[in-house]
Amino acid sequence: MKNIIFLAPPAAGKGTLSEMLVEKFGYGHISTVDLLREEVAKKSELGLEAEGLMKAVKYVTDELIIKLIEIRIVEPDCENCYILDGFPRTKVQADKYDELLSKLNKDLGIVIYIEIDKDMAMKRACSRITCPKCGRIYNKYSEEMKPKVDNMCDDCNVSLTSRSDDSEETFAKRFDEYIEKTMPLYDYYKNKGVLKTIKASKSKYETFEDALKVLEQ
Ligand code: AMP
Repeated sequence: MKNIIFLAPPAAGKGTLSEMLVEKFGYGHISTVDLLREEVAKKSELGLEAEGLMKAVKYVTDELIIKLIEIRIVEPDCENCYILDGFPRTKVQADKYDELLSKLNKDLGIVIYIEIDKDMAMKRACSRITCPKCGRIYNKYSEEMKPKVDNMCDDCNVSLTSRSDDSEETFAKRFDEYIEKTMPLYDYYKNKGVLKTIKASKSKYETFEDALKVLEQ
């Protein structure tokens, strides 16, 4: 097993693919948005700092996210292998992560780039609904990702909610920020020889199969 970094625009399917890989292989799952939401809910110093930026649909500072990653990455479930879902997102974060890996004597593993165009990502984001309890992601317009009962989580039996940053306007902002700040990491990891590309334009099972293939290479 290799550590995985998902490099992908919002709504490309990082969260769904992470869930599927965690279930099959038992990876540790490091989701930066979940880490940030926990801090916001705790009203910690980092949470208070993050909240305003998240509401303004801006990236939180590199320092803040790196602090959270440094703590999370040494937790027992990440001792073997883990998935980074939402990190690194800037060149500063990627450099800091390289330093952290050398310090901890860990391997970078593989970077999986999920290719999706803006229109499709927008369509997906605007129809995405999530379980507020377990975080499972559903999509009301996709046969394979619909909940069994309208608007209810299959597992928790609670009502599903839409993310406030999944409206068309905020989604466009998130996508543009991704292109400006995160897309440069594509070349960075390509030049290191660790980047593999899969396409998001398939069913989640086909995308999962593609991810398994690149993990086997
Ligand atoms: P996501 O759902 O993964 O797009 O993350 C939602 C929000 O969390 C982003 O719009 C940022 O405000 C914040 N965020 C998550 N990961 C990072 C990161 N690595 N660097 C900066 N901000 C982040």
